[in-house]
Amino acid sequence: MSAYQLMIKPCGPACNLNCTYCYYLPKQRMFDGSATRMSDLTLEEITRQYISSHGSGTITFAWQGGEPTLAGLDFFRKALELQEKYRPPGMMIENTLQTNGTLLDDRWCRFLHEERFLVGLSADGPPSLHDIYRVDRTGEPTSGKVVQASRLLRRHRVEFNTLTVVDRENARHPLQVYRYLRNVIGSRHMQFIPCVEPKGFERVPPQGRDAKDLPTIGDDAARPGTERSVVTEWSVDPVDYGSFMTMIFDEWLQKDVGRVFVINFEVALASWMGLPPTACSFAEHCGDALVAEHDGSIYSCDHYVYPEHRLGRIQEVELSEMVSSDQQARFGREKARGLPAQCRECEFLFACHGECPRNRFIRNPDGGTGLNYLCPGLRRFFIHVGPWMKLMADGIRAGRTAEDIARAQAPGRERERADRPSGNGRGGMVSGHPRSCRPPEAGVPPPDQGRR
Ligand code: SF4
Ligand code: SF4
Repeated sequence: MSAYQLMIKPCGPACNLNCTYCYYLPKQRMFDGSATRMSDLTLEEITRQYISSHGSGTITFAWQGGEPTLAGLDFFRKALELQEKYRPPGMMIENTLQTNGTLLDDRWCRFLHEERFLVGLSADGPPSLHDIYRVDRTGEPTSGKVVQASRLLRRHRVEFNTLTVVDRENARHPLQVYRYLRNVIGSRHMQFIPCVEPKGFERVPPQGRDAKDLPTIGDDAARPGTERSVVTEWSVDPVDYGSFMTMIFDEWLQKDVGRVFVINFEVALASWMGLPPTACSFAEHCGDALVAEHDGSIYSCDHYVYPEHRLGRIQEVELSEMVSSDQQARFGREKARGLPAQCRECEFLFACHGECPRNRFIRNPDGGTGLNYLCPGLRRFFIHVGPWMKLMADGIRAGRTAEDIARAQAPGRERERADRPSGNGRGGMVSGHPRSCRPPEAGVPPPDQGRR
């Protein structure tokens, strides 16, 4: 069995916020009637089986939601006790927690620091952008609480990354978003996740749509905010997404290489260096990032939590059986098998691999299906960063650091004062990025990050 990661949802889709673009809140209807917190018995079964199916080495428990802190501190204390109970000699266990940050306080942060959790904090930019979609259950803004959470995390020296959903609005303000994360939130490890939601995604799984309803690349229907659009109005425009990433790349190259780590750039650099992709979206195959729901159900991927992609329940089928099942193997292979001609012939296939299958609902000009909605933006990004990635990859192979290479190539390069040191000394990616908090977009190959 290949190495795999398990994202665990102690409270399922339950959340104290009501973000407009959340793809997981609608899952509540799938779990009607079941308790919203994982029972101790289920937690123990997941812990035991996850550990025993790995045997040795390092494994990561990636806690996510909904909002996982709703499970309470005692739940996590219990989780650590169980990890210790089943951990064989020599195995290293790491814990990551993806949170909206609004429930963090001194007690939480002391615990997270002492237990060496890596935290992923959701932050979409300054209040004028963050609060458009990230609101609580009464529609109130949440940006103030996120700033407060970032201060607490820094005060208690908790390692954290930021996770930013790139939506239709903040995509038009890349530098405002990036500078806010860097200067106000104090993020030194960032990840940007495009918001792409086909209308009706709550009921219809990706690849479940009728081919005749798929728009062709370049059509109005393949962009948000148009009358015939097939995506929600908050989905990012594919071209804006490309511009967003390239503008942030330029700012980063000019000022921040070596002290701010952007997972998206690390992933691209790994591809240019010929290393295995470090995010599942850009890997050749899927299948190594499963989800354990609060009731013990196991699904193929965080973005495929639909009845059709349920592998079983941990109380009834061994986790190792589900991971190596034919169903999961088919799911993993389908990513490469489903590539359209446009991708197979693309010069960036080695770095893109058609991106995540959940976003493949566009037609090629020749009528073929399976093209990625984000393709125009992905191409724009790869064309822009390609020469730089090649330079960096060659330089790193020759023993230079990414920072030296950037300094030599960008003469006007300046640095702004850093308010905290970069790097946390754990893990490591091509240019020194430490481990990510979420399996899905940074991990073993890290599964693709979802967003909350
Ligand atoms: S998030 Fe996308 S690329 Fe990653 S495992 Fe799931 S389907 Fe595959
Ligand atoms: S850039 Fe577009 S055509 Fe090229 S591999 Fe990615 S999705 Fe396919």
